[in-house]
Amino acid sequence: MIDYYATDRLRALYPKVKAFLEEEIFPNENEWIKMSFKEVESILREKKQKVKNINAWNPYLSEEEGGAGLNLMEVAQMGELLGQTPYGHFCFNAQAPDAGNIELLLKYGSPAIREKYLEPLLEGHIRSCFSMTEPGNAGSNPVKLSTMAVRDGDSYVINGHKWFTSSADGADFAIVMAVTNPDEVNPYKRASMIVVPTDTEGFERVRNIPVMGHAGSGWHSHAEIRYHDVRVPVTNRIGPEGGGFLLAQERLGPGRIHHCMRWIGICERAFSLMAKRAATRELGDGVFLGEKQMVQGLLAESRAEIDAARLMVLHAAQKMQTAGQRAASREISTIKFYAANVLQTVVDRAIQVHGALGITDDSILSYFYREERGARIYDGPDEAHKASLARKILKDYGLIVKNN
Ligand SMILES: Cc1cc2nc3c(=O)[nH]c(=O)nc-3n(C[C@H](O)[C@H](O)[C@H](O)COP(=O)(O)OP(=O)(O)OC[C@H]3O[C@@H](n4cnc5c(N)ncnc54)[C@H](O)[C@@H]3O)c2cc1C
Repeated sequence: MIDYYATDRLRALYPKVKAFLEEEIFPNENEWIKMSFKEVESILREKKQKVKNINAWNPYLSEEEGGAGLNLMEVAQMGELLGQTPYGHFCFNAQAPDAGNIELLLKYGSPAIREKYLEPLLEGHIRSCFSMTEPGNAGSNPVKLSTMAVRDGDSYVINGHKWFTSSADGADFAIVMAVTNPDEVNPYKRASMIVVPTDTEGFERVRNIPVMGHAGSGWHSHAEIRYHDVRVPVTNRIGPEGGGFLLAQERLGPGRIHHCMRWIGICERAFSLMAKRAATRELGDGVFLGEKQMVQGLLAESRAEIDAARLMVLHAAQKMQTAGQRAASREISTIKFYAANVLQTVVDRAIQVHGALGITDDSILSYFYREERGARIYDGPDEAHKASLARKILKDYGLIVKNN
């Protein structure tokens, strides 16, 4: 928390959240990390109740919506704290993809959908997933989708093949992006978002995709899914027919702030482990690792880069909060690739300073290294954000870039 950005509300909640993490999560982390997430999930159920008791549950939602009532700037700073452990966001019901799905259902879900899916999701009784990316199409061009939802009376019949549907294992429903209006001239108006219960006939979770040797389980997994003639009522659609991309943009805006601040939290964790190791690892003859200038360089550069990234993300959050998502589009692109790269660099340096220990599962660093490589790919790969930012800069100087 940066003092001049802190509000009274954040100052009151922050120490309680910190104490919760220090007492309930960090001491168990090393053991949990070696267990399957499904096993850990049952332990976390009891921890979630403690979070509810300190009034920090659903931190990004208003009090009327069942949340802690934090604004984007406050959520961002809380997100850094929660991000220091892989279990932080999950214990506070602030984890992706549920947080984004909750925001969509709050805004666009019909009363029946809200009652059936949103309410238990808000309570943390069920989980959800978001199913858009397809193995056969470039995910970085979101209009390229082959999954079809064809209207048949009062139903949609969905056929398609998706992958990297994170957390589908154990989820009660998926929000599926499927083409409903293939003849629409504007490609951004061809797809819709549709709620599909995972127990619907024809919903096949083919596998949890192994990521660098770990297929994961439960919330901590990414699934390949096939939709074979999956029939759901038309009323399961959220938002207007053909409005899927509009909704996706809304979902991604605050989501990128949440991810970036979570990454800053991971950076701080890695940094502190790196500094501790440098200060205590003796090379021999009373000489410590931290006395070597090359190691000092890693520490100093990391400190500067993390601090810069944090300020950039908070600046973007403030702009989004005050001027809206559209006005902050350059800042959002900038932080998305910048913070993701700082994350990767800092975790890599921390591993280097730890030597062999850094790549073992005895250290949280190896988990971060493996699980967070995706940061430079999801929610728009580095190159897409750099290109988008550069296009806007060049437009200011009179060059309209037509093809990227
Ligand atoms: C950890 C993780 C979790 C995910 N969770 C979900 C989820 O829950 N639901 C879901 O639907 N999807 C999810 N995804 C998928 C993600 O959205 C896609 O991976 C992403 O959109 C990129 O699409 P792609 O993998 O098809 O890569 P492609 O589109 O094939 O791109 C490949 C590479 O090409 C380069 N590239 C792309 N565009 C440009 C450009 N304009 N200029 C230059 N180079 C470019 C980039 O280096 C990019 O990495 C997840 C992915 C990861 C890694």
